[in-house]
Amino acid sequence: MSSSTLSIRPKLPNLPQSIFTTMSVMAKEYGAINLSQGFPNFDPDRKLLELATKAMHDGFNQYAPLSGIYSLREVISEKIHSLYSREYHPDSEITITAGATQAIYTAIAAFVWPGDEVIVLKPAYDCYEPAIIAHGGRPVLVQMDPHEHEVDWKLFEKAIGDKTRMVIINTPHNPSGKTFSAEDMKTLERYLHNTDILVLSDEVYEHIVFDKVRHESASRFEDLASRSLICASFGKTFHVTGWKMGYCAAPDHLMKEFRRVHEFNVFCANHPLQRALASYLKTPDHYLNLGPFFQQKRDLFLSGLQSSRFKFNPSEGTYFQLLDFSDITDEGDVEFAKRLTVEKGVASIPISVFNKDGQDHGYLRFCFAKTEDTILRATEILGKI
Ligand code: PMP
Ligand code: GLN
Repeated sequence: MSSSTLSIRPKLPNLPQSIFTTMSVMAKEYGAINLSQGFPNFDPDRKLLELATKAMHDGFNQYAPLSGIYSLREVISEKIHSLYSREYHPDSEITITAGATQAIYTAIAAFVWPGDEVIVLKPAYDCYEPAIIAHGGRPVLVQMDPHEHEVDWKLFEKAIGDKTRMVIINTPHNPSGKTFSAEDMKTLERYLHNTDILVLSDEVYEHIVFDKVRHESASRFEDLASRSLICASFGKTFHVTGWKMGYCAAPDHLMKEFRRVHEFNVFCANHPLQRALASYLKTPDHYLNLGPFFQQKRDLFLSGLQSSRFKFNPSEGTYFQLLDFSDITDEGDVEFAKRLTVEKGVASIPISVFNKDGQDHGYLRFCFAKTEDTILRATEILGKI
């Protein structure tokens, strides 16, 4: 088609291609082991797949209700109550979404007005800032300690102002693998007490925590829960990232506004998959076993790197491990990640792209949601670098 003379004003003019796309495309092009983009390279439970096909054959192929089918919302409500001791009413406080990304986008669209500020802790997953900007908001970036990935609460306090509408938190944290402690959550709660500031709590890795770490959901804390929209993803929990299914849980006065936007940006999420998830979630072991399952993979990955030149603190949660390569090269992390992919055949994610001002502290992120064979092949290569 000939180039158009239509005048347009891009909403997101300064965004490069996402690093997940860049690295996954590169991994494919060079036949590298792809430990970059976060997705499992093994199949989900056959039972879940059978439930999904059964739902289609049973005729659940038309629109679901706007907020999701009741049986799924009900079992989510029971899950949250049993794990975090908080009641979310299935009728008015839980909505099924097309993945956590849509839940996050919808939460931002529903509450962020032009000129509002949203505090984002860096490094941060890449879908928050574009959604804030698209709605005229201003991301206020607060860098965590670049090595330990602890929040500097004094810096956080300075970032709070008259225009702060929302704070986005993410625990377990992508990309660092750190988790918030109960003390962190209480500190956040204290800073937000007596304000109108909302919290968007991205908890997509809630069931992937290691070494007896407890997941500190925002729902556990009375005052935080009253101002939080909690976003979750079945893609991460059940090894089905391609299904793009998730949910948002929030007190009814917030959920009411969330649903007003949800109705017009998606109306409802995939119906047969909701049927399958509603049955599958009735067995708590399906999500409670996830920590030990991925901990074994983390340990296998790290044991292969014990005598390597990479340095690390074992990940506390998520299926990502950061490796510090400062003893290996002075190259920038993007350059090194690309070279590792091309020359050594292992793809990873450079962390600078998630940091404030692209700060590069010499870390790469590796996804260990892979079969044993893939992990061993990767560590064999990485161990020799
Ligand atoms: N938040 C974080 C921290 C993530 O890592 C991801 C990727 N799964 C998402 C949100 C998006 O989840 P989904 O694929 O369900 O949209
Ligand atoms: N959540 C995945 C990760 O962190 C990527 C999802 C995506 O490709 N946008 O790797």
